[in-house]
Amino acid sequence: MAQAKRCRQISVTRPTAEPWYAAGLRFTCTQSGNCCSGDPGYVYVTGDEIQKIAVSIGCRNGRLSSKYIRKVGSRFSLVEDEETGDCCFLETKNGKRVCAIYSVRPLQCRTWPFWKINLETADDWCRAAQDCPGINTGKLHDRDEIEACRKVTRC
Ligand code: SF4
Repeated sequence: MAQAKRCRQISVTRPTAEPWYAAGLRFTCTQSGNCCSGDPGYVYVTGDEIQKIAVSIGCRNGRLSSKYIRKVGSRFSLVEDEETGDCCFLETKNGKRVCAIYSVRPLQCRTWPFWKINLETADDWCRAAQDCPGINTGKLHDRDEIEACRKVTRC
């Protein structure tokens, strides 16, 4: 209880520091596909997202088979190729790496690169930029947009 009281006092007396990205950050997807392949990882999907994806690829029962999703603890993640790490929905079209379910891609994909792990410090952002050619180019996203993504993603 004493700890909670101390925390409240600090938040009242100290002004909130501006995040390092207060002036906004630039990002436009270049369709490199880098964020959809490579090192093993997880693309988590909710029940609603699974249903939307299933409908979009023609599974009328609203379910995705084990070709597309796998269980990870109590959650589901999209399947990736064991050798390349490619997401099962990553396709190559006209030399571009594109998402076959772009309009219904999961929230985790929609919020890239504005994830907590990339926004902690400017160095974290620069580290993410090493693998993503879209970071620091193109559209300027303001602080509100960035914060909105940061809040809803678990990454
Ligand atoms: S669902 Fe689409 S955007 Fe998300 S990782 Fe797979 S290919 Fe990439």
